Amino acid sequence: MTPAPDGRGANKPATPARPPRSRWWIVAVVVTLLAINLWVSSQALKPNAPIRIPYYPTFIDQVNAHNVKTVDTTVNSVTGTLATPIRYPPGDTTSPASTNFSTQIPSFANGNQLASLLEKQGVTINARAPSSGPSVLESLIFGFGPTLLLVGLFVIVARRMATGGGGGAGGLMSFGRSRARRVEANDQHATFADVAGIDEAKEELTEIVDFLRGPEKYLKLGARIPRGVLLSGQPGTGKTLLARAVAGEAGVPFFQMSASEFVEMIVGVGASRVRDLFHQAKEAAPAIIFIDELDAIGRSRAAGGPNLSGGHDEREQTLNQILTEMDGFDPRTSVIVLGATNRPEILDQALLRPGRFDRRVVVAPPDRAGREAILRVHTRSVPLAPEVDLGAIAASTPGMVGADLANLVNEAALMAAKRGHAQVHRQDLSDALERIVLGAARKVMISEADRRRTAYHEAGHAIMGMLTPGADPVRKVSIIPRGQALGVTFSAPDADRFNFDQRHLLAQIKVMLGGRVAEEVVFGDLTTGAESDIQQLTRIARHMVGRWGMSPAIGPVAVLPADGQGPLLPGVSETSEETQRLVDAEVRRIVETAHEEATRELAEHRENLDSLVAALLQNETLDQEEAYAAAGLAQGAAAGAQTALQAGEAQEAEPPAVS
Ligand code: ADP
Ligand code: MG
Ligand code: ZN
Repeated sequence: MTPAPDGRGANKPATPARPPRSRWWIVAVVVTLLAINLWVSSQALKPNAPIRIPYYPTFIDQVNAHNVKTVDTTVNSVTGTLATPIRYPPGDTTSPASTNFSTQIPSFANGNQLASLLEKQGVTINARAPSSGPSVLESLIFGFGPTLLLVGLFVIVARRMATGGGGGAGGLMSFGRSRARRVEANDQHATFADVAGIDEAKEELTEIVDFLRGPEKYLKLGARIPRGVLLSGQPGTGKTLLARAVAGEAGVPFFQMSASEFVEMIVGVGASRVRDLFHQAKEAAPAIIFIDELDAIGRSRAAGGPNLSGGHDEREQTLNQILTEMDGFDPRTSVIVLGATNRPEILDQALLRPGRFDRRVVVAPPDRAGREAILRVHTRSVPLAPEVDLGAIAASTPGMVGADLANLVNEAALMAAKRGHAQVHRQDLSDALERIVLGAARKVMISEADRRRTAYHEAGHAIMGMLTPGADPVRKVSIIPRGQALGVTFSAPDADRFNFDQRHLLAQIKVMLGGRVAEEVVFGDLTTGAESDIQQLTRIARHMVGRWGMSPAIGPVAVLPADGQGPLLPGVSETSEETQRLVDAEVRRIVETAHEEATRELAEHRENLDSLVAALLQNETLDQEEAYAAAGLAQGAAAGAQTALQAGEAQEAEPPAVS
């Protein structure tokens, strides 16, 4: 479930809160406790209630005084009767006198002696075998008590949940009521102006808004408006925000519920909640029902295994109920169901059929201009220093989505406040970005030798990035340790990349090798610090050979599965061992060639390397301008124009930072 972002759009329960009617159980508990208390004290006050006395001296004394008439003993405990009542403690007149007593025989007492003493005094001895089992009452209490307690507790908790969730009326009947948050039209403050950078999705939804504003216009022409619209896109792209904005623009009530909230422990509750939700919405029509995180129940019935919360049946029943409700709509009810999911591919096909979620709106991550627009939205109420260039920030944040950017602005504002600034400065923003992208800086003691080595390693990456045609410009070099990494070199393209040409991939490999090569060139030995570099560059080289057809020896043949596709190529039998060996050889050839070139180039540019290292040791972090200046290399000298070799499927962006 997504809380109302930004604190806007105050949420209201569907019906005004009533005083809960379910106080009876508190009363019941109190009454029971009182009754138990009374019974216990009445037992103690009863005349002749057994008194507990010590074995020695009291019990032995009483025996010697001929006052004990009978004893009943099991293993070590003794109850018995006395001829004349006594009190215990002896002088205490507040406690009642009694002829019944109980005592415990210590395990070290000599049983024979006691027996002969009792016999001598003429006491009647009733020995009983140790009780062979609990009495009927006991077994009832111990057998069913805990279960009863648990059931009672469960009922109480369930009832509280049913009443507490904002679904409205209390009492047993509200158990299956929907707990949707209903937001009234005039409380809905999100509008399309709050949503930026996802213009295509916004455009597709304007039609929906128009319909909800004036359904008659459409209905007169017999037009059928889509009943269900599915927003799909990765987390944080603004799906929830967009749905709220649709309601805000249309000025209609908005019923929001996260699919996971339908699914409860008890089978059937989800379905009845769905029924109730649709019922409420129909009464309020025109209205919007928004089911967030639809994949929680809409997962393909064929694919998903049983999940922990609720299990299979419950999910299926809930899903079926949604399908039924959507089918049962009168097409003229102006209720539109919006759904959102991060994973449209796992949704049950039944959900996507006509008349259900038949309209799909993809909410894609924003491009550079989009990111700038989102930054503008989120800095509307943030005082920015004049030197802040949102365009530049947008350029250095490829891959970030709306939620990341909102977070970035917030972090920067926090940073500025902590530093006592009156405005948010460029430094605050770039520090916040660093913190988000690279993990929080950690403070540790690092030896001077380690610092120097790290500086050479990072400078090696950076110099290779500056020298190699086709490499992304170096944005930042730092030897401040973060998370696992001792330092980091961060490069990013000027524009978002959707395709990677061969030259760029080879350049990336060389840049990743740069760190290790610099260590080789300068120190002549190796450290373990280049592990992740080596992993990344090996992966790129393997993909070039096995997936992207960039090796002449293999040719344009896919011999490796894409990431996340299991070990085999779909629809193809396993590649031969010979091919595998050829792939390995080709990967090795690519990496070795790059390694030789990098070694030669770094040796040739040793002066640039040394001066960049000096600046790094001095300043720890260098931004783009400072880094190029310190290295004595011109910006843009190496970065030629990028030409994508082929259009088509966008490759996943390679991680921009090397450490
Ligand atoms: P999703 O539902 O896709 O995971 P949300 O809508 O919950 O993402 O986004 C979380 C927050 O991130 C929003 O409340 C908003 O502050 C910000 N945000 C996300 N996308 C955008 C966008 N396109 N424009 C403006 N703000 C956005
Ligand atoms: Mg969401
Ligand atoms: Zn590295």
